[in-house]
Amino acid sequence: MNYDTGSDPRISLEKSDRMSREDCFQFYCGPSVPCFTECCRKLDLTLTPYDVMRLCKRLDVSSSDFLDDYAVIRGVSRHGFPEVSLKMDTRDENLCPFVASSGCNVYDDRPGACRIYPLGRASSKNRSTDANEEFYFVVKEEHCRGFEQAKNWMVNEWISDQDLDLYNRLNDELMELYMLGFRRGSAEFSTQQLQMFMMACYNLPKFRDFVFRTSFLRKFELSPEQIELIRQNDLSLLEFAFKWLKFALFGIPVLELKGANQG
Ligand code: SF4
Ligand code: SF4
Repeated sequence: MNYDTGSDPRISLEKSDRMSREDCFQFYCGPSVPCFTECCRKLDLTLTPYDVMRLCKRLDVSSSDFLDDYAVIRGVSRHGFPEVSLKMDTRDENLCPFVASSGCNVYDDRPGACRIYPLGRASSKNRSTDANEEFYFVVKEEHCRGFEQAKNWMVNEWISDQDLDLYNRLNDELMELYMLGFRRGSAEFSTQQLQMFMMACYNLPKFRDFVFRTSFLRKFELSPEQIELIRQNDLSLLEFAFKWLKFALFGIPVLELKGANQG
């Protein structure tokens, strides 16, 4: 159910289906709809690194326990990286492990894919301006009665109601890595590179240990303020992890090595 297409080149939509943040759609979801929680089963629900970070905190579990108990790690995709999705409960009609009759048990920390529905988002980087460009579209699932409810939204209102801007920003970072991987063509990442990706994206405590308990900080030019931020703040650490992967896997100069400018 991850309708954020990122820069997936397979997605093409009629221009007339594309919506800007100022366009409107009709939808309501809540306990009063007859299909309430019907959609929380049999899902192919991609979990982004930020989703996993929020859910680990919410459930008070370690990243490795979360990945063992709640996730499926799929083999490498066309961009060359593994993808992580939420494990449905096969003993119970393939229900999402977080659904209850009263709704979502992790509502405040539900994944981005659950927040954005019934919209999808496509984004790509404009190569000349380096800015992210996006459009939205409505995804109508047959079983979803939310479209029959008399409530109108502007796309912008939905984004704000679902707190999507932060999810979108972090998702764009992941999509940029995917796109860089995609552009490499058929060259596969080594096992070590894939382990770096999984650690930096999906195991932040291990990545923090890697930064602070190895020679890492002796190699990179980082200000004391940056170092304190990534020591204390998980979101800053995740943003730094994306940077490090761009530098380490693709050679993009978003980090500076110590002594690099000395003649
Ligand atoms: S995380 Fe919550 S909203 Fe998303 S599928 Fe599971 S129960 Fe439904
Ligand atoms: S099927 Fe649609 S309206 Fe029903 S609970 Fe899911 S998102 Fe809400």
